[in-house]
Amino acid sequence: MAYKSSTRGTRPVSLIAIHTAEGARTARNLAAYFYRPDIQASSHVCIDAAETLQIVDYGRAAWTLRSGNPISDNAELCGFARWTRAQWLSTGRVDGVDNPRAMLDRAADWIRARCDARRIPKNRLAIVALRGGGWGVIAHDDWTKAMNDGTHWDPGPGFPWDYVLNRVNAGSAPAPAPPEEDYMPNTALLKAGKNQHLSIPCAGVKKFLYICAAYDDEFDLLQMDFVHPTGDTDGPFEGGKGFHSHDDGQGNGGKPWRWNPNYPGPFDFEDWGRDDVCAVTLRWNSNHDVMAQIG
Ligand SMILES: [Zn+2]
Repeated sequence: MAYKSSTRGTRPVSLIAIHTAEGARTARNLAAYFYRPDIQASSHVCIDAAETLQIVDYGRAAWTLRSGNPISDNAELCGFARWTRAQWLSTGRVDGVDNPRAMLDRAADWIRARCDARRIPKNRLAIVALRGGGWGVIAHDDWTKAMNDGTHWDPGPGFPWDYVLNRVNAGSAPAPAPPEEDYMPNTALLKAGKNQHLSIPCAGVKKFLYICAAYDDEFDLLQMDFVHPTGDTDGPFEGGKGFHSHDDGQGNGGKPWRWNPNYPGPFDFEDWGRDDVCAVTLRWNSNHDVMAQIG
């Protein structure tokens, strides 16, 4: 078997562990990554919104929970430990991952099935109980803390355990209302309207600007300008005139950017060209609210 695994050992499987892949956007791509001979890792299943792909037999230990491998069934979700609760519960597209909420629903179905198969309680184990050999559902981060084993903190503090475990225990619980404005500091809501404008602070954190829209959304990013801390700032916005920009970060005057609806978000403006950008100013037309994030 080309996917890495080991024999289980003598202790019974007592843990159901949840992870995030931190890169792969689909279960297929994640499985392909694990298949590579140079990758010393695996998982029992890879989960995205569309499928739960099993690549390691439950009779064997997958390689993803370090010393906990022999006593755990493991699922890797195609998400990121940095995601906020709002991002996990989104039904849109987040960091190139389709419908995280549907992925959570799949994970819940998988947890329920594995708990039933192993007679494991459908609750998240407290750290102290995990350390004491308890049976239950855990985050990789729980194992890291309980056993002082490794540094991984997935699936992250924003992972909505209440939503997932409600669904595990209820079968199919009604979806909670979307959280309101649960955005990270460098995240901004781009309100619907014509010729809207906003500056998003990004000092010290600039890397990428993501603009997250959904398929069929129409969003025109008319202009993007970088704001520099001293002496070299872009001018103030004047309605109808656009920006008095003299630098788009690449030595050019302000230039229009047009959203391509065939390539919905996230949309990366990776090559900013300068290190001293302290904010990004955007101007847009949109008939619906869109989220932008710098991080
Ligand atoms: Zn992990």
